[in-house]
Formats: sequence, structure tokens, C-alpha cells
Amino acid sequence: MKNIAVIGAGTMGNGIAHTFAQFGFKVQLIDISEKALAKGLATIERNLDRMVDKGTVTEEEKQQTLGNIHSHTDMKKGIEHAGLVVEAATENLELKLDIFRKLDEICPEDTILATNTSSISITKIASVTGRAEKVIGMHFMNPVPIMKLVEIIRGYSTSDETTQVVTELSEKLRKTPVEVNDYPGFVANRILMPMINESIETLYNGVAGVKEIDTVMKLGMAHPMGPLQLADFIGLDVCLSILNVMYDGFRNPKYAPCPLLVNMVAAGKLGVKSGEGFYDYSESKKAEKVAKIFA
Ligand code: NAD
Repeated sequence: MKNIAVIGAGTMGNGIAHTFAQFGFKVQLIDISEKALAKGLATIERNLDRMVDKGTVTEEEKQQTLGNIHSHTDMKKGIEHAGLVVEAATENLELKLDIFRKLDEICPEDTILATNTSSISITKIASVTGRAEKVIGMHFMNPVPIMKLVEIIRGYSTSDETTQVVTELSEKLRKTPVEVNDYPGFVANRILMPMINESIETLYNGVAGVKEIDTVMKLGMAHPMGPLQLADFIGLDVCLSILNVMYDGFRNPKYAPCPLLVNMVAAGKLGVKSGEGFYDYSESKKAEKVAKIFA
């Protein structure tokens, strides 16, 4: 297994491509948008530069990593030799079903199809393919090159063999895989998103300001980052989608997204990626703030 394809070059896709490439895999990075591909590649280079500055990779390893990544806008071109495809496109059920239908058509029958979805049912995604036993959740954390966890989610029909291959691949990336079952939000987001939603609700109710809420959680609970900053970093649209999936999946009002979150997403305030969320990441301040988050 040396050839990997990554679908989507956004926040997660570029991190996943970076990580596989850094550990010697040949990566085809695919996005429908040229702009997203250019931005994704620029992010990978910037993050590698930061790693070189910190001494965690050498200049030569940086060049090798960049050389291992090829980018395309045409899915057919990139993936005919991939042993594993990791889908990291926008968190939207219909979009993912469409991508998996196409992947099932294009990829050789032994290719494993993984999704980085934060919350959508692996079983549902697998159901539109003719290879449900080879479909699995491979849920990386943000920022991918740094975070150790990979939540491995077994759909209803995922085989032991597929689970083992993906587990071993995660270990090759020096990550720690944890196997969980396929229920809305899996484990990570089932616990994280109610906390983020409650912090937005706390802001919405006027109990405290953005900085105050984040400071309470950082200093009081030893969280490395406050929940509102973390929401900005994840993407407010992604948070909203995950909450909606859990709300629909469990039919439980405790997962209902806060109206402030709904409004911010409608206004295009998506966090770091749009330049503004709970904090300001406008061009002049963006590089400095993101560097601090990675530090
Ligand atoms: P993003 O919005 O940053 O990037 C999504 C990318 O997918 C965009 O570049 C878009 O152009 C591309 N895309 C859309 N349709 C496509 C298609 N048909 N083919 C190829 N590319 C397509 O989103 P993200 O935050 O990187 O999230 C991607 C996935 O990872 C989602 O499923 C999300 O739930 C999951 N995830 C996100 C985080 C996070 O912290 N952001 C963490 C874990 C998992």
C-alpha cells in the first residue's frame, strides 16, 4: 500500500495528504476547485516550513514530502492506482454519497474507501457502494500533522481485514488508532460538540464574552485551547453539520445547534477559513493567529 488518494484539499484534506506524504506514501490530492488545491498546497508548504524551523523535519524531508504530492481536479486521473482513498470533502451527506458512488465505479475492487467524516453514518455511505466491507471511517483530528488520534469507525459491514489494514496504516503515520462503532458523532464529536454548542449558548445568553468563556475553559479545565477558538479552528459550518447529524440521528433536543451558530454560518462567518468567526482572522492578523494556534 504505497499509493493513497485524498478527496478534498480543505482544512483536513491538506493535512491528511501532508501526513501520508511525509511518511513516504505517494499521494494524489483531488479537489473540484483549483483555488482550494492551490490553497491546500500552500498550507502544506507553510506547515512544513514551520516544522523545519522547529527542527522536527529537515529541509530534505520537506522537499521529499512536497514531491510525494500530486494534485488534480479530475477524480478519474488521480485514483486508479490508489490502494486507499481517504475522502475529506465538505461535510454533506448527499455530496459524500455522490463521491462514494463515483469512487466505487472508478476504483479497482480491492481499493479501501475511507471517509474522514466527523459524524455521517459510515453504514449509510457504504450502502451506495458495492463493497460495504471495504468502507470505513478514518477520522483524523485537526491539525492532522500534529494530532495523534485516528478514530477508526467500523460500519455495519466493515470487515476485520479492512479494519486491520487501516489500523496498521495509521500506526505507520505514527498515530494512535482507536476503534469505535458507527453511531452519530462516533465518540470524539459526541462528547466535544455538546461542549462547543454549550459554550456558544453561554455566549448567546450573555453570561460571558468570547475571551472570558475561553479563558475559563483554558485555565480552569487545562484545555490547550478554549472551545470557541476550537470551533473557529474546526470551522463553524462543520460544527453545525455535526450537531445537525447528531440531532437528527438521536432525535434528542440536547444536540440542537444554538441559534447563534446557525446565524453565524448563514452570515458566512466560518472561523479561521473565512477570516472571521468568534475571533478575527483578517489578513493582517491571520498568519500571526494561526501560528499561535500551531505553536
Ligand atoms: P473544508 O470546507 O475545509 O474543505 C472541504 C473541501 O472539499 C473543499 O476544498 C471543497 O472544495 C472540497 N470538495 C467539495 N466537494 C468536492 C468533491 N465533489 N470532490 C472533491 N472535493 C470536493 O472542510 P474540512 O474541515 O476539511 O472537512 C472535510 C471533512 O473532514 C468533513 O467531512 C469534516 O466533517 C471532516 N473533519 C473536519 C475536521 C475539522 O476540524 N475541520 C476534523 C475532523 C474531520
